[in-house]
Parts: sequence; C-alpha cells; structure tokens
Amino acid sequence: MTTIIDGKKLGLEIKEEIKAEVENLKNLNYGIPSLATILVGNNPASEIYVHLKHKACEECGINSLIYRLPDTITGEELLEKISELNADKNTHGILVQMPLPNHINPAKIMDTIAYLKDVDGFNPVNSGKLMNNDEILAPCTPKGVIYMLEKYNVRIEGSNVVIINHSPIVGKPLALMLLSRNATVTVCHVFTKNLKEHTLRADILISAVGKPNLITEDMVKDGAVVVDVGISRINGKISGDVDFENVKDKSSLITPVPGGAGPMTVAMLLKNTVNAFKMQMKK
Ligand code: NAD
Repeated sequence: MTTIIDGKKLGLEIKEEIKAEVENLKNLNYGIPSLATILVGNNPASEIYVHLKHKACEECGINSLIYRLPDTITGEELLEKISELNADKNTHGILVQMPLPNHINPAKIMDTIAYLKDVDGFNPVNSGKLMNNDEILAPCTPKGVIYMLEKYNVRIEGSNVVIINHSPIVGKPLALMLLSRNATVTVCHVFTKNLKEHTLRADILISAVGKPNLITEDMVKDGAVVVDVGISRINGKISGDVDFENVKDKSSLITPVPGGAGPMTVAMLLKNTVNAFKMQMKK
C-alpha cells in the first residue's frame, strides 16, 4: 500500500505553528519578524515563487517587503542594496530570488548577505554551520525534504539514500543533512554513469533535476521512498521528475508534484525567518 506524502497539509500545519509563534512574539513586545525579498528582473517563474513566499508570510503575520530591481542593475548596485538591508534593524531576513542575470555573480551576493539574516542558508557561514550539524538556517528545500521524511517516520539511519542533484541549493546541503542522520548517501548528477544502477539501490530516492519522466518504474526498488523535488513547466502544467502514475505502486511512500516538496520549501522559509528574528533578538 503506497502512502502519498501530503506536503500541502504539512505546509499548512507549519504555517499555523509559525502564525502562533509570531503572535506570541508580538504579544511579548519583541516585535514582528520582517523578510526583505529582492527580485531582479521579471522572470515569470521567479515572480510566482516570490508571490507564494510573500503570501505565506502575510498569512503568518510576518512582514514581507519585495524590492523589485531592473535586470540592468550592476552587481555593485545589488551589493549596495544588500548592505543597506544588512544594516537595517527592522529587516530580519534577506532573500535574493534566484536566478540572477548572468552578469551578476550569485556567490558574491550570498557572501554579502549577513549570515544572521540569511534565510536561504546559502551564506558560507551557514554552509559551514551545516558541516557541524547546525541546521538553524539550513537551505529551505533540503530542510523541507528532511522534515517530510521525519514526519512520515521514514527510517533515515542506515538507509541507502540516492540524491540526483549536486547543486548548492539542493543536493550538497541535503547530502550533509542525511549524513548527519547516519544515512549512506550517493549523490548523482548529469555526469553520473548508469544512473539506474544507483537508483535501484536506493531505499530513499530523491530527484531534483527538472526533467519530466527522468525516473521511471524500472529505476525504482520495490518499497522505496521517492521524493520528487524537480519542477518543470510544460504548456502551463507543472510536473516533477518522476513518472508518478507508474512509480507510485512500486514505492512505499511518494511525494506528488505539485503538493510535495514545493509547499515544504515555503514553510521552511517561514521557519528560517522566525529563527533569524529570534537569533537577532539575542544579539
Ligand atoms: P540546478 O540546475 O542547479 O541542478 C540540476 C541538477 O540536476 C544538477 O546536479 C545536474 O547535474 C543534475 N542533472 C541534470 N540533468 C541530469 C540528468 N539527465 N541526469 C542526472 N542528473 C542530471 O538546479 P537546482 O536549482 O538545483 O534545481 C533542480 C530542480 O529542482 C529544478 O527542477 C528546480 O525547479 C527544482 N527545485 C524545486 C524546489 C521546490 O521547492 N520543489 C526548490 C528548488 C529547486
């Protein structure tokens, strides 16, 4: 019997928890967490993600401000904006929506965001903390994947986990978080030979590529847990990496797209924003 992981429901539960926590902080006169989102240019997918994050903040009582900047902005001008927000006591979280125009180096941007305000968890200080199992400001998507697995009581310790993605946003931090939970982790990517040989060994298979039907039934071990992080838009329809209808019956647990990893990413951003706020309260 396959269980479909309900990321939407978990996301709503987390939102309720965050809403209560924000209300409590306000009643105790600590103030209200405030998130600044920088959106450069007008990439349609980025517009959707920023809108979803903004709406989620508002639903939980978190202040959300969106700074829209033209794609002609220079790297220096963007760094200046970040420095201004770093210095602003009323801004507790800073998020720069990716992707940035090609002429801007994203690594430099991540280096500049104050690590206590780095709600995306991409600053080298927060990446370093992750090495020491400190996940307080860990990247949102990996954090959401772990949250889902733990909520559904998936045994991570001792499991063979195969991640298909080696980006700093998903695969690399997720591998560290799984290692710290004593999983045996294999990280596959576009240069991996014989992908199927790896995926067939996975007790937990996590795919984040953005290629529909990359994962077919014959690539999945019986009873595996399958987490689909990939997002592709074809003719306005969103799909993941997994051939859901055929893989579903082979797996013990599986996430749908949409309604799986996506809402968890947004929920973890809310958690990180509150965490950032609380850490700054202590300073
Ligand atoms: P990315 O382009 O940085 O990484 C893509 C990864 O897929 C790389 O590791 C690459 O080597 C690998 N890859 C590409 N083609 C492959 C192939 N044929 N076989 C095996 N591996 C292959 O992208 P990213 O930012 O890490 O995002 C990856 C996907 O996850 C995208 O679809 C993105 O939309 C999605 N995503 C979803 C969420 C969410 O909240 N659900 C969050 C972040 C990213």
